[in-house]
Amino acid sequence: MTKALVIGGGIGGATAAMALQKAGIDSVVYEAYPTDAENIGAFLTVMNNGMTALRAIDVHQPVIDNSFAATGAEYISATGKWVNERKYPQNNGTINLPRTLKRGALNRIMHTELRARGIPVKHSKRLEHAETQADGTVVAHFADGTSDCGDLLIGADGLHSVTRKIIDPDAIQPRYVGLTILLGYTDKATPKSPPGLFQMYYGKRAFFGYIVDTNGETWWFARIPGPEIAKHALRDTPTEQWRRTAASFFTDDDIPAVEIIEKPGTIFPVNTYDLPSVRHWHNSSMVLLGDSAHAVSPSAGQGASLTVEDSVVLAKCLRDLPDLPTAFSTYENLRRNRVEQVIRTAMKADPAAIRLRVFHRLLHDLKISREETRGRHPHSWIYDYRLDWDSPIPT
Ligand SMILES: Cc1cc2nc3c(=O)[nH]c(=O)nc-3n(C[C@H](O)[C@H](O)[C@H](O)COP(=O)(O)OP(=O)(O)OC[C@H]3O[C@@H](n4cnc5c(N)ncnc54)[C@H](O)[C@@H]3O)c2cc1C
Repeated sequence: MTKALVIGGGIGGATAAMALQKAGIDSVVYEAYPTDAENIGAFLTVMNNGMTALRAIDVHQPVIDNSFAATGAEYISATGKWVNERKYPQNNGTINLPRTLKRGALNRIMHTELRARGIPVKHSKRLEHAETQADGTVVAHFADGTSDCGDLLIGADGLHSVTRKIIDPDAIQPRYVGLTILLGYTDKATPKSPPGLFQMYYGKRAFFGYIVDTNGETWWFARIPGPEIAKHALRDTPTEQWRRTAASFFTDDDIPAVEIIEKPGTIFPVNTYDLPSVRHWHNSSMVLLGDSAHAVSPSAGQGASLTVEDSVVLAKCLRDLPDLPTAFSTYENLRRNRVEQVIRTAMKADPAAIRLRVFHRLLHDLKISREETRGRHPHSWIYDYRLDWDSPIPT
């Protein structure tokens, strides 16, 4: 039986392994970190298309059970004026509605499912190098000195992918998009918003948003402009300093940002990157998937959803097509245009918080709102992406 080496135990690696199993392909997941729930700081929303893809591999229900419904977003100006409201697409009555959850929870769900499905996960296995052998098989070498052999290798190792560099040493590097995102949680705020409805504020100097979960906890984020922050500063800067930094961007605004930010609770800083167009997605035995192939700015709220779509499409290609080269190139053909179009769409909407860009973002959202009132959501091509397990990949 074919054996896949899946590098990375994030949402991409986990869903790839589950999709491969459904396609009759064995895999082992190799994760660099010693535990499942690294990078637990961020929260994310899996949009309709991501839920559809999770459903294709039967892992939607635990996500629904451990998340809350995101129903839409209200947009408000720096002076506190209501600008518009967007209802998240409800997929014409089907049940794949957007869900919001913490990244740590998503990781735990995925790894619980991997265990339940008998898919092995090896921790503390950081890929350093891999090579294709004369017989076409692939050997992966890890930082702990061990190695393993398989028929194919899937690089689901995220934004700073080692697999990408192995496939193409000259591959482009992630591009810093000029924003640090500070994410915070507090149960001490008294927000007026109902659970599940994002409140988004076009502050004069930065963009602020929050959502309330079903337990009344406030999950907030501030997208603040500035240079890339060094790794050690992200790690070592005290929470109270991040709190002061975040609050300082909203002191001139008539919005509840400062009030929420100043409430006690945890704060996580993240630099934001994208990866517009990776030249080579595969070689004869290795293939990229998720952020390693096409990272989209977090403003799009699409990275995880596109990643799960990748997993399903790649597994179907491997299931239906006669050999690896055909499967890999068909997978790339089916995916590249879509993901790169989403990245371009996100770039247009990216709310870097210099005044001009905030204004630009406001115009952009008003345009979308006008389209919605005419019954057309200009981004429905993103959310309504049709993906099922049974339909064959045409040869
Ligand atoms: C602040 C923020 C907010 C976001 N919000 C949303 C949102 O609302 N909706 C959405 O859909 N997306 C969102 N995203 C994007 C989403 O998180 C990513 O697109 C998604 O996690 C990509 O999944 P992945 O598995 O490809 O990569 P990752 O989640 O990065 O997983 C990669 C895994 O590979 C492991 N790894 C790395 N290198 C190696 C190696 N050499 N060997 C072995 N293992 C390795 C890592 O430890 C990690 O576990 C957000 C991102 C950020 C930063």
